[in-house]
Amino acid sequence: GSSDRRQAVTVLGATGSIGTSTLDVLARHPERYRIHALTASTRREILRDQCLRHRPQVAVLAHERDAIWLRDELRHAGHETEVRAGESALVEVASANDADVVMAAIVGSAGLLPTLAAVRAGKRVLLANKEALVMSGALFMEAVDRHRAVLLPIDSEHNAIYQCLPAEHRGGLARMGVSQLLLTASGGPFLGWETSELSTVTPDQACAHPNWSMGRKISVDSATLMNKGLELIEACWLFDAKPDQVKVVVHPQSVIHSMVAYSDGSMIAQLGNPDMRTPIAYGLAWPERIEAGVEALDLFQVARLDFQAPDEAAFPCLRLARQAMDAGGTAPAVLNAANEVAVEAFLTGDLAFTGIAEVVKRVLDASSLQAATELEVILDEDRRARERAERYLERCR
Ligand code: NAD
Ligand code: MG
Repeated sequence: GSSDRRQAVTVLGATGSIGTSTLDVLARHPERYRIHALTASTRREILRDQCLRHRPQVAVLAHERDAIWLRDELRHAGHETEVRAGESALVEVASANDADVVMAAIVGSAGLLPTLAAVRAGKRVLLANKEALVMSGALFMEAVDRHRAVLLPIDSEHNAIYQCLPAEHRGGLARMGVSQLLLTASGGPFLGWETSELSTVTPDQACAHPNWSMGRKISVDSATLMNKGLELIEACWLFDAKPDQVKVVVHPQSVIHSMVAYSDGSMIAQLGNPDMRTPIAYGLAWPERIEAGVEALDLFQVARLDFQAPDEAAFPCLRLARQAMDAGGTAPAVLNAANEVAVEAFLTGDLAFTGIAEVVKRVLDASSLQAATELEVILDEDRRARERAERYLERCR
């Protein structure tokens, strides 16, 4: 009711790794937050259990048949949650008047339209779905400004940088005296491996990340370093940086989540245990701080912090991403689309691990650059890049 002062939260991608961590943090603060909507693609049993526990006003699944099933389950349990299906329902729960905060935690390009809808509705948007920003950077940031959305990065690196910057971000990096953003990278499960050893690695090996437990797509991206490439592009948009102002530093312990270097020689870092509940809690409560369920960092247990340069020869995806950002326009959207197709093919056993970079490179080379100022153009180029990637995979089979 109107006397309810709690913030209403929509969690897009509630059943995923970020989604479940978000619900964990929200459940610790029932006096601050209530759930407007929870959404999932296909894992309907998990969404049902989440609905029974968190009592959202609305639940959304991808397919009508799953929505019918969930409606039935919830009705029998005496719940009044409205159950809907499809992309238009995602857009609606992301922009509903009833929602104050939207956690954008759908994986991949499927998150673009609902995330943009939240931005255009002027919500507080917690951005985990980096692919949405990579695809539509200029348009996305322009919409944030125009609709006065509050955009808070959840990706741990960008959340760390946000925390290391002055409270007032406007005016660009130079005005803040920032000389460089340092994105830390764990290096993934294949840190130190040679190209020749990488051609035969399996999806399960690639998804066994040393420090973080994440969805399979981002786990593969972490293993190829494409995740760091997407994050470099993400950092350029979020902080209005040039690609050469963003430096990637391999830091295997994943304790420093990223750093900001200033012109006076200072370098500021954000440290913590590798647990996404920290950036999630930060985004939810900003500018305040709330308990996240994360243990304090034990520096004596960490004992040491190591740093090294990334190996761009063995992991060419990082260089490809930097090139795409330098090229501008629709190149990052093309990079992202080709990568999504290639990662899926790798996960289903249809492409070698080292083939991922190859697919992305070929699709980028074959695509002509367009200005990325209109959503239609971006979605068109996304579709074309997917077709190109599929055709290349066909020829390899
Ligand atoms: P995940 O695979 O665990 O979860 C993805 C969620 O999106 C699920 O709820 C799924 O149902 C939903 N989804 C998938 N495809 C969909 C579709 N076509 N339509 C609607 N919903 C769909 O992924 P995750 O690891 O939680 O990652 C989510 C996003 O957050 C990604 O963009 C990832 O890059 C980013 N991110 C994740 C982490 C992490 O630690 N997991 C860290 C930083 C950033
Ligand atoms: Mg990250």
